[in-house]
Formats: sequence, structure tokens, C-alpha cells
Amino acid sequence: MNVNQSAPPVPPFGQPQPVYAGYHQSSYGGQPGSTAAPTPYGAYNGPLPGYQQTPPPGVSRAPASSGAPPASTAQGPCGQTAYGQFGQGDVQNGPSSGVQMQRLPGSQPFASAPLAPVVSQPAVLQPYGPPPTSAQVTAQLAGMQISGAVAPAPPASGLGYGPPTSLASASGSFPNSGLYGSYPQGQAPPLGQGHPGAQPPQRSVPPQASSFTSPASGGPRMPSMTGPLLPGQSFGGPPVSQPNHVSSPPPQALPPGTQMTGPPGPPPPMHSSQQPGYQLQQNGSFGPARGPQSNYGSPYPGAATFGSQPGPPQPLPPKRLDPDAIPSPQLNELPPQQKTRHRIDPDAIPSPIQVIEDDRNNRGSEPFATGVRGQVPPLVTTNFLVKDQGNASPRYIRCTSYNIPCTSDMAKQAQVPLAAVIKPLARLPPEEASPYVVDHGESGPLRCNRCKAYMCPFMQFVEGGRRFQCCFCSCINDVPPQYFQHLDHTGKRVDAYDRPELSLGSYEFLATVDYCKNNKFPIPPAFIFMIDVSYNAVRSGLVRLLCEELKSLLDFLPREGGAEESAIRVGFVTYNKVLHFYNVKSSLAQPQMMVVSDVSDMFVPLLDGFLVNVSESRAVITSLLDQIPEMFADTRETETVFAPVIQAGMEALKAAECAGKLFLFHTSLPIAEAPGKLKNRDDRKLINTDKEKTLFQPQSGAYQTLAKECVAQGCCVDLFLFPNQYVDVATLSVVPQLTGGSVYKYACFQVENDQERFLSDLRRDVQKVVGFDAVMRVRTSTGIRAVDFFGAFYMSNTTDVELAGLDGDKTVTVEFKHDDRLNEENGALLQCALLYTSCAGQRRLRIHNLALNCCTQLADLYRNCETDTLINYMAKFAYRGVLSSPVKTVRDTLITQCAQILACYRKNCASPSSAGQLILPECMKLLPVYLNCVLKSEVLQPGAEVTTDDRAYVRQLVTSMDVAETNVFFYPRLLPLTKSPIENTTEPPAVRASEERLSNGDIYLLENGLNLFLWVGASVQQGVVQSVFGVSSFSQITSGLSVLPVLDNLLSKKVRGLIDSLRAQRSRYMKLIVVKQEDKLEMLFKHFLVEDKSLSGGASYVDFLCHMHKEIRQLLS
Ligand SMILES: [Zn+2]
Repeated sequence: MNVNQSAPPVPPFGQPQPVYAGYHQSSYGGQPGSTAAPTPYGAYNGPLPGYQQTPPPGVSRAPASSGAPPASTAQGPCGQTAYGQFGQGDVQNGPSSGVQMQRLPGSQPFASAPLAPVVSQPAVLQPYGPPPTSAQVTAQLAGMQISGAVAPAPPASGLGYGPPTSLASASGSFPNSGLYGSYPQGQAPPLGQGHPGAQPPQRSVPPQASSFTSPASGGPRMPSMTGPLLPGQSFGGPPVSQPNHVSSPPPQALPPGTQMTGPPGPPPPMHSSQQPGYQLQQNGSFGPARGPQSNYGSPYPGAATFGSQPGPPQPLPPKRLDPDAIPSPQLNELPPQQKTRHRIDPDAIPSPIQVIEDDRNNRGSEPFATGVRGQVPPLVTTNFLVKDQGNASPRYIRCTSYNIPCTSDMAKQAQVPLAAVIKPLARLPPEEASPYVVDHGESGPLRCNRCKAYMCPFMQFVEGGRRFQCCFCSCINDVPPQYFQHLDHTGKRVDAYDRPELSLGSYEFLATVDYCKNNKFPIPPAFIFMIDVSYNAVRSGLVRLLCEELKSLLDFLPREGGAEESAIRVGFVTYNKVLHFYNVKSSLAQPQMMVVSDVSDMFVPLLDGFLVNVSESRAVITSLLDQIPEMFADTRETETVFAPVIQAGMEALKAAECAGKLFLFHTSLPIAEAPGKLKNRDDRKLINTDKEKTLFQPQSGAYQTLAKECVAQGCCVDLFLFPNQYVDVATLSVVPQLTGGSVYKYACFQVENDQERFLSDLRRDVQKVVGFDAVMRVRTSTGIRAVDFFGAFYMSNTTDVELAGLDGDKTVTVEFKHDDRLNEENGALLQCALLYTSCAGQRRLRIHNLALNCCTQLADLYRNCETDTLINYMAKFAYRGVLSSPVKTVRDTLITQCAQILACYRKNCASPSSAGQLILPECMKLLPVYLNCVLKSEVLQPGAEVTTDDRAYVRQLVTSMDVAETNVFFYPRLLPLTKSPIENTTEPPAVRASEERLSNGDIYLLENGLNLFLWVGASVQQGVVQSVFGVSSFSQITSGLSVLPVLDNLLSKKVRGLIDSLRAQRSRYMKLIVVKQEDKLEMLFKHFLVEDKSLSGGASYVDFLCHMHKEIRQLLS
């Protein structure tokens, strides 16, 4: 069975890397005593006194051959498990006497690019040089100003920012119009009085020190409003139409220093250790992970909580930058008449569109070379190429800041989270080469003896090349004889540019058997398709559609390199409240079915013939897929089981001794009597109560236990849901989430409406390259360490991220904290090592290295931040927080942290100025608008139309999103289609996501990675209507249309081409919904106009910015 057991240590890839051809084992001087402990080398400092992570020299773990699976491995002295990657096979690091490698035939499955370009960049080997002169200095004092005299007041607590005071009960109806529930008929408020006839010109906001003192005459009026112009009030509908929208008197401008919602109170704690009940462990698998952050308390005693109840005023600390702040009455104490209208020009506040455009213009043309430490990459919205010159590409790792404060005190003061968003198997554009695979033969990858870090460009070779000093823990290691090479006059190995692991930021090592489970090379993984054949699945047409699709899709299973066919075997199960296994052995004339009705103790009734090679068993498989829809065509069975299905798939993989993936196609709440049986516990009355968190928690612990077993087996679960009503996504997604799988949801699935979306997702999901049975470890240089992790994975200890499966879309977000002082000269290093089994069954290690700068000046931190990554981290932090804390607490925590970050900048980095000015760091000027989008998202502030399952689904999706995905998800892209010349087929420049940017004479596309709308203005030209929709007037356009007619004219081609292009950029198929201005569906669309006040109570951008300003001033006063 174990076909690879006798695999030779020589890689199966026979293609030697040309650049290695000349490598010759030359004149090794010989140091037989190279196993000596590092102690004689005191000159190299050895371990730093404060370093806690490493065992004493000489300590080594048990032989890797103990081979326990990761979930149950013992803890080594430094936290490493006995599992291969983090163990220390003695043969790997010591000199293997007698083994004299003549040459290391590096193999290279992705032979697309030579290493040559690297050689031309000697800078790569000087990672410890002085930091480059920053071109970003000019940004330091850039900031935005806002006149406090006209700063609008936000609505009273409970209106715009606090939770809605009441919510309509769920209608429970599922739409067929897309991801989210549609609005119940009758609930859509009437629209306002039309839209602006012309769109205001896009004004560019000067990046430096823009002042947005409001014009006395007011900014552009929001045209759809019927009443007085209120901040953010963009809809004219009467509040009564939204039960959770509490009407309130209009706020008004207040004098400088006015307090917004409450006097200063004690700052809400930012981290779990300060906040009882805010438990932060996501996976239930590691201890008080954020404990050490307890001293990250707010330096600002005056921090207020946005939306919290007013408390008694407290004495203010001495003022520093706020000389003109004067006390003033509470906003909510003022009579409504005294509150004036806010008049901030929306064009004068920082614009996401402008920032994105500027970055595209400034950084889109040159490739981003990674040779310089601490360089902030272009934004995720900019198209750019990457040249690996010694640091990992931003496609693999993005950081919240590329300049880390040297001390924890500084970090505490700034409150900027230090985190990296890591996408270890990220797909690259065709122009960029996949990581090289390095084969060190039987000796395996070279590692530091103490901290187990892998050889990388930052390791320092000393003593003529006979030893190297670890860049992570400073340990001096012997260079094994077969790896010896001379140094040049600069101390660099002369072969540095011939070896990926000495010159590149990202590369792979072929793993030895020591890195394999049970000390056996893995066999190729298997895919098992598990199809719900209950009444709902059959009736909707799903079963027939799926079986038909699988017949052809099985030819596109992931392959490796130039392999002719996939090594992956397949198996099939159908189920309702019993399970049916199929024998599809190639020797059979017809498939055989075996029914297991005792679902309480699941077993696999057949081994031989269950998992088969597609090409060998094609005839039998085709016959099976033809028969399944017929067999169950008349089923009346409506009940389903769920946990036993996963159990069965996992047991089948276990019996076959391989890793793999289950594809589950499931329709209903599993109420049949079986393990993991669920009940309908949906209760929207819990929203905005302390029990709201239970809506996000699984209702049964059985799924976590099951997930743990799956992880141990390397069994990843992808779940396709087709619910007609509540299915408890929060519980059903536990196993996919903990096994690195994906969840897809198609509410009220109907073949005619949803087949394109489902089939597109399915094809992509089945074909995508996956790493199986993976373990990821992030090592850091002395001074910082990884303390917290977010994503779809399982952790059984505090350091190893276990992933039954990991694909190129999934990210793991890692937070770091200080455990010692850093210094500017050395900087800080990260090394992410991912051990995984490839689709062909090859065991590999993928290594990503990244060097960051360290700073003693806060201004350097603020100058080198990346807001998109910060938002990615903060959203994941918040979305995990809702599992254990009231949603309101989570929102308040986010707001406070944002205010603290910005107040610290104002206090320490900005030049003194009037407190009436809001000054934002250039790199963070979009933090308020983006954070507001997170606060208004369906997880943290659901509208009446959002179901509990929608929220659980989105929460789970965001957890493993990369930075580009969270960016567009929280701030959707809105593209006008007829502004640019019709011949111009490039993507038109986006406009801000606000209703006032919509011209009723135009049509727009809006997308956020999951949803795609085509909005049609009521006054759009008849010619445009005819060209795009093929009808003669606006009124004839079908609202909710999901497919545009294929018409032979330029505009039609352009619009359809743009839709295709947007879909191609996203990891999930976005179903189109055509929305007509002033139509009912427009309410759904308006949810995505995130700069406006939302119907669920979310603040407008302008309001939120003003509120943030108040928060900052309170912190500073
Ligand atoms: Zn080390």
C-alpha cells in the first residue's frame, strides 16, 4: 500500500537545477570535532541571557522515529514537538561521517526561471547593514486637519455607534438573490428624492497636511435626503421602517473640546488579560496566549468608550497639545434645536480611492525588490511584480509594520498591533517563479542545532566557513562537511548565489523521512466526495448537477509539475440519515453499494475498491455518477446526519494510511438521531445581549473532537452548504475551520439560478493545489516571539499551527510581542516554516524569511505601517472576540485601540498644533474609514436582513482572508461604467462607496469579493439601456437579473468583460445582481455603500471620523 516507502532519498524530480551543476565539494578543511557544544565560542556571545525559548546546548529531543502525529506529540524542552519538522534528527545537523556528497542535485519542478537575476543583487547578503535612507520621511508630518469648530457631533450613544436598541425578529426567509438574505417585502423604506444629476468631480486630496475645514456653506448636499442635512444621514426613509433604527434629534456642530458621548472614563482594556470574559483562544487549544500583553494597557487614562454610557467626569491629566480645549456640555444633554448640521466636505477627508490611485501611480511600474530590510511593499490594490532578493515576497507575508519598536514600552505606547499575515502557499502571477526546491539528500535541510531555524540568507558564516552563527538565537553551529564552502573577502560564502537557501527569501526543502509521520514517506492523498441525497438535495437538482459535473471534473484533479495525471485517488459516499459507500474498483462491471445504517459507530465497510485511480476506474465511476441521481430520484427522506459523514471519510483515509480532503455537499440541519445531531437554536432576540456570542459558538463540542481526529489524520474538510433555512453554520463549519478547509454557502439553491456560481466554485476548489498534513511554525529572532494566531487551523500547543490541509487562498495571521529589547542594528527576523505533503505525496518544507527594521523613534513606526494589514488583523481579532464577548464590547475595544494608536501619533510625532485639528499619520490616514467598515460589518452590527447563518459564515470566511480580500470586502469597489470612453476597456477608476457618488445617469459595478452588483441609474440614457440589457427602457430592465444578455456591441462587451475580469480576480465566484435605482433591491445594494450611515445603525465615515477625533482629544487632554 505504501508505494513510497522505498522511495530513494534522491528526489523524484529528475531535473537537476542547472545552476547547481558547477557546484563542487571543494577542499573542506575538515573539522572532525564539529559536534562540539557551542560553549567554546564565547566570543560569539552564545545565547543571550534573556532568551527563553531554547533548550540548553546539547539538549536534543527523542529520535524523530517515535513518529507520533502532531496532535498528540510530546512537548520538547523548547516547545518543539516530536513531530518531524521541529524535531532534531541527529543525522540532519551533525556531520554525517562518511557521507561525502559530491554534489547536491537540487531538483527543480518549477523550472521556469533561472537563479541568475539574484546574482546581480549583492545587497541581499548585507541584511545587517544600516537601514536604508527612508524615502518616507516626508510623510512624517503629513496629516489631515479638521476644524474643531465645525466638527460635527456624532449621533447620541445608541444611535450611530452603540448597538441598536432593538431589532426586528428575523424573517427567516432566504432570498435567491445572493449571499445575504433579501429584504422582507414591505421592509424597505421608501427612497429619497432621487440622485444627484451629476457626480461631483473627484478631487484629489493632497497627501500632506490636508486641511478640511468645512466650508460655511456646506459640502455637497446629499441629494436623497428630504430633511435637514445630517451627518451621514443618507436615506430619506422614515426611521419607523427600520425597527432598529432609533430616531434621534439631529446632532450639531459643537465648539472645540466638546465631548461626544461621554466623559472620560477608564479605558477599556485592550487585551484579554485585562478584560475578564474576553477570552481570546480561538481554537480552544492553547493557553493564555495573550497573557504577556497585560502590560499593554492604555497610557491614556482618559480613554472613553464610544457608545458607552456616560460616567462621572474624571480629573484630566495635564494637557500637552490641546491648549484650546474647553469643557462643554454633553452632546446628548443638548436640546435638539441647538445641534447644528455638520458641513464637512466629504471630498476633503482622506479618500481610499485617492490613496489607492496614488500608490498605483507611484509604485505600480517598478518591480518590488525584496533586498532591502524593512521596506514597505506597495498596497495590495497595486499591480506589481516582486523580485525575491532575500526576503519573502509580500504575496507570502505582509506585516502591520515594517519597523518594530525596540522596546515593549514603545509598543505599548503606540498600541499598533505587531502582526504578520502569512499566506505560505500563495499563488504567484505567471511572471514570478515558484519557490525552488532544494534537496540536501539524506542529511536533510541544515538547521540551527538549538532553535531549529532553517538555513537562510541571514545566517552568518564564520571561521572561514566552518561554522555559522544562527541569526535567530545566536548559537554557533558547525557546518557539516558536505555543506562546507569558502568565504569571500566580505565573509560571504562564494556559493551564496547558487543556493536558494542562502540568497532567497522563499524556497523549499525536500524533507527526509524524519519529517514524515511514523517515519514513513507519505502516499499520495485522496479526495472523497460525500453527497447528501436527501429530499432537498434531489429536488433542487443539486444531486444530478453535481454528479454530471464530477464526471468531467475528475480529469482536473491537482497535478504536480509536469505529471500526466494526478496522483490523487478518489472515493464516493452518498448519505441521508444512513451512509452509502461505493466500490468502484476497476475490475467491476458495475459499482457496488454498501449501506451503513448504524451511524452511531461509524466504520468503513470496504477498503479495497473504495479509493481508486480515476483513469483506471473511469468506466465504473461514470456508471456510478449516472446511477446516483436515478437511485434517489424518488426519495422521501428529509433527515440527514452530518458528523458521521465526516467520521466515515476520516476513517477511510485512516484505513488507507493517507491524508486527503473530504468534499461534503450538504443541505439541512442534521436532526437525524446520530452523533453530532443538532437542534435549531437560532434566536435573533439574542442580538445585542450578552448571550449573542452563543450564536457564533458551536452548539456541540462533538465537532471539535471530531476536528481534532481529522487533523491528526491529515483529513481536510471542504463544506458546500445548500440550505433552505437555518442550518447552524456556526456548528457545521467547525470541522472545516479547524482542518484548514473552506465553507461555501448557496442559500435556496436552484439549478437554474445558482449553477454557474456553484460549479465555478467547485471547479476551482477541486483543482486548487493543496498542501496536506501540514505543520507551520514561525520562528523569530531574539526579542520578539509569536504569541497569537488567527486562521483556519488547529493548535494543540502554543507554537505549532496544524493544518490538515492548506491551499493557496488561506492565510494565517500571527501576532508578535516583545520578550526582550530589540536593537536597530540587528533588526528583527521572522522565519515561517511549513512542513506539508504535496499533491503528489512528496514531503516538503516551505521556508519564508523576512527581515524587519527596529526603531527607537515612534515616528519610524508610524511611517512604516500598512493600514490594510492592520485592518486585516483588527477584523480577525474582533471576529474572534465575538465568540466570547458581547459584540458591543468588541466594537468598543476596536474604537479605543484605533484612538490610542492615533493619539500616540499626535502626541509624539506630529508637530504641535491646535487641538481642533485632526492629524493622522500618512500611512494610517485610512484607518478610521476602514475601521468604521469593520464596525459596520454584518458580524459586528447586523442589519435586519442578515441571518444568523450569514453572520457565522462571514465570520468564518474573514478568519482566513488575506489582506487584499479583507481590503475589498470591507471597502467595496464601485466602478462607473460609462464615464470613460467606450473604447477604453481597462478597468475604470473607482469612486468612493457612497450614495452621493452615484449619478442617476450612469451604471456602476460594485464588488466586495463575495457580491457583485450592477446598479442602474433611473435616468440612464436609453442607448445605454439598449446596449447593455437589450431592452428599450429603464422600466423594462428586470430587477435582480443575474445574467446580462450577450449583445454584439462595444458597451455590452465591455461590461461583460469587466464582470469576467472582476470574477477572475477573486477566489469565489461572484453572482451578479442587477439593481435598479429606487427599486426594492436597492436597499441590499446600499448596505455596501460603506461611507454612508447604514440602516443597521452604523456611522457614516464623516461621523465616525469626527467621533474618532473626539476620542483622540480625550486621550490627549
Ligand atoms: Zn538558532
